[in-house]
Amino acid sequence: MNKVALVTGAGRGIGAATAKLLAKQDYKVCVNYHTNAETAQQVVAEIEAQGGTAFAFAADVSQENEVIQLFQAINKQYGKVTHLVNNAGILFTQSTLADLSVERFNKVLITNVTSCFLCCKEAIKQMPSGGAIVNVSSAASRIGAPNEYIDYAASKGAMDSLTKGLSLELAERNIRVNAVRPGFIDTEMHADGGEPNRIQRLSPQIPLKRGGTAAEVANSIAWLLSTEASYITGTFIDIAGGK
Ligand code: NDP
Repeated sequence: MNKVALVTGAGRGIGAATAKLLAKQDYKVCVNYHTNAETAQQVVAEIEAQGGTAFAFAADVSQENEVIQLFQAINKQYGKVTHLVNNAGILFTQSTLADLSVERFNKVLITNVTSCFLCCKEAIKQMPSGGAIVNVSSAASRIGAPNEYIDYAASKGAMDSLTKGLSLELAERNIRVNAVRPGFIDTEMHADGGEPNRIQRLSPQIPLKRGGTAAEVANSIAWLLSTEASYITGTFIDIAGGK
């Protein structure tokens, strides 16, 4: 199979680590980004320096027209998308539910879940038998993120339901749909949540007593996409140090 992977939000963090790992595994990779072209181009440069194949493409994946353009660009560059990682996601400053605005709630939902729906919808129009999707959910979908970001947790809960339902819709086509549920991963996202040192604060409460790395999450994503996981669909891998 000509393996063509789209990783959304791949300019930094978990998405960047996943794009780099997939490129090492002979996928042609589209490094999607939203606002930061520079970091996305750095990811592409790193992949190319190691002999891999990748290109960066800007698209706000919560917007249908931009998702369509993203897929058109990949098709032109590499052919059909065979593997999809729905990784793009946001959270905002820690808050109780009572203090959340409806604008913020809706922004989190469209960025984290509508994006996943739109990319799945485009991908499955062209994905062949043997294709696979991994959704990057969160431990927050199980924990609920009280006093921090219930909006974010709810968006990830919706992603889990989408994963389950779509896995059953696509099983007959031999397209697998799974999710990873990371937690406490050392990326810049926690600064967006208003607490850059959140992982250090919470480490004593994590059974493995440390945060995880983006590379550790990428390993599970790549494995779920691979033929080594060929009998696994509709499944969730929790990557949260035992939490
Ligand atoms: P980062 O904040 O480091 O990276 C997120 C990336 O998503 C950014 O590069 C950003 O692009 C991109 N992005 C945001 N909005 C959009 C959009 N509308 N369209 C396209 N791209 C977008 O996050 P992480 O690497 O930590 O997280 C990646 C995923 O893992 C997220 O879904 C997150 O919810 C999930 N996760 C992370 C955990 C953690 O502890 N870090 C725990 C559980 C889940 P740009 O920079 O170009 O704007």
